[in-house]
Amino acid sequence: MQRFDVIVVGAGFAGMQMLVRLRQLGVSFLVIERGSDLGGTWYWNRYPGCRCDVPSLDYSVPWDPETEQEWDWSERYAAQPEILNYIQHLAERHDLRRDIRFDTVVSSVTWDEDCGLWVVRTDRGDTFEAQFVVSGAGALSEPNMPDISGIGNFKGELYHTGLWPKTPVELAGKRVAVLGTGSTGVQASTAIAKAAKHLTVLQRTAQYSLPCHTPPLTEADLAARRADYPEHREWQRNSVAGVAPRLPTPFAMRAFDDPKETRFENYERCWQAGTAALVGVYGDASTNAEVAEEIAEFVRNKIRGVVKDPVTAERLCPPPGTYVGARRIIIDTGYYEIFNQPNVTLADITGDPIVEITETGVKTRDNFYELDMLVVATGYDAVTGPLLAMNITGKNGARLKDVWAEGPRTNLGLMIAGFPNLFTITGPSSPGVLVNVMFAIDQHVDWICRCIDHMRKTGAPKIDTTEQAQNEWQAHAAETYAKALRMNDEKNWYLGTNIPGKPRAPLVYQGGLGFYRNICDEIAADGYRGFVFG
Ligand code: NAP
Repeated sequence: MQRFDVIVVGAGFAGMQMLVRLRQLGVSFLVIERGSDLGGTWYWNRYPGCRCDVPSLDYSVPWDPETEQEWDWSERYAAQPEILNYIQHLAERHDLRRDIRFDTVVSSVTWDEDCGLWVVRTDRGDTFEAQFVVSGAGALSEPNMPDISGIGNFKGELYHTGLWPKTPVELAGKRVAVLGTGSTGVQASTAIAKAAKHLTVLQRTAQYSLPCHTPPLTEADLAARRADYPEHREWQRNSVAGVAPRLPTPFAMRAFDDPKETRFENYERCWQAGTAALVGVYGDASTNAEVAEEIAEFVRNKIRGVVKDPVTAERLCPPPGTYVGARRIIIDTGYYEIFNQPNVTLADITGDPIVEITETGVKTRDNFYELDMLVVATGYDAVTGPLLAMNITGKNGARLKDVWAEGPRTNLGLMIAGFPNLFTITGPSSPGVLVNVMFAIDQHVDWICRCIDHMRKTGAPKIDTTEQAQNEWQAHAAETYAKALRMNDEKNWYLGTNIPGKPRAPLVYQGGLGFYRNICDEIAADGYRGFVFG
């Protein structure tokens, strides 16, 4: 049986940064990855239209200053192929692949109390031992396949967007339906509408989508960022979300201090700036329901202004009381415009629910959509799904699945009481994917590696968190959650409520990246308060 100091699960951006840092620490380690190459999300999500919702100049690794100076991002929001190229460039430059075991799924992770080691088994029959296990398995990597009657009978092409084939998928001349209208469904539909013979968008819940505006980056844009990357990185690390604002918002703390005309001018400026600017237009834009509703109606009017058929336009408008930002912001490159194309149909599957999927298409109560291809954009079992999929068993034979039956509990999103020496990058109740995940990863990797280094220097073989510290962190994380108006939308992967049967529990920390970083640093400086070394 092979033994390592550290086993890292996943070779996306988290696993890659962990790999680089572990080499620097001089410990023995192995990275296990289920894909055939690196990239995580960007490896699997090859669906048409896939694009990052964080600007390229903010969404690049902070651990390679040379590549920062050399890499030419082509547009403001990079599309998936460009990000995957960038990942492959990093892999070659740092010779990352030699430390990664590809095409391997971790099937169980079991704590051996007698040896003080984790035993990691894989679907290829390997058994490894390691002092530490670090999950870099990601937060949005466990696809949610909808349990729709007959879905297995469909004889056409069926793809989940998160498991898109590596070989080209031909759309021309085909009748395609996209199921789901979250970030993925909106992006996929916008792209598929351009190529397919006919596209049916199967919408259960209307959501707001904001324009992203993604012009090409000029030499001047790149040069300006290259000149201040070190300062910019430092700012990102300590900011709320790690993303440079498009406009200097909020324009004022209280919206209604401004007259109506000024407010609407500001909403328009944010709309033109694109992405999430509108959510932060005023200090109370997401806490004062009256302001939030005014902004929501502003966006609904934008939808009505684009979509020519009034019935379709109304179907695309979330109902009053649904706020912009109540779920993760969706950004697009012309989504509402596709509904003016003759080859696109919006099917409201709430008013006319799906009854079954047959061999040839989707049967709703009142209609039948004959299809050559069904694209499933139904999201993920977020944050906890990838961890639970590993079948983790901690001290005293406690299975993580049972320990988290009522919802996940962690200390700082980094460790779980009773699961010693197991670290979770972007784990539940950490800022994770709520913020620019590149910097959530950066902070976690740094904290974990400093902790491992500390243990090596002090000779401590084992670290666990106390139940009390975990309870305190959960209470604090819940408080930050309660303050956010976005919780008004109950069906939200941030809460786990997008998955039938999954316990409702806040999955991301809402207190901001910089604030969170300070807490983690302060705990480490205070002798890892709330953690016990064995
Ligand atoms: P999502 O936001 O969870 O959306 C899933 C969609 O599928 C929803 O419209 C949902 O409808 C629908 N759905 C789920 N189960 C269904 C069922 N059984 N029948 C019919 N409809 C069903 O998932 P996502 O769009 O993949 O996005 C997840 C996250 O990934 C995003 O929030 C974002 O963080 C990330 N992402 C980012 C980007 C980007 O960077 N631009 C792109 C893609 C994804 P209901 O609303 O009715 O549940």
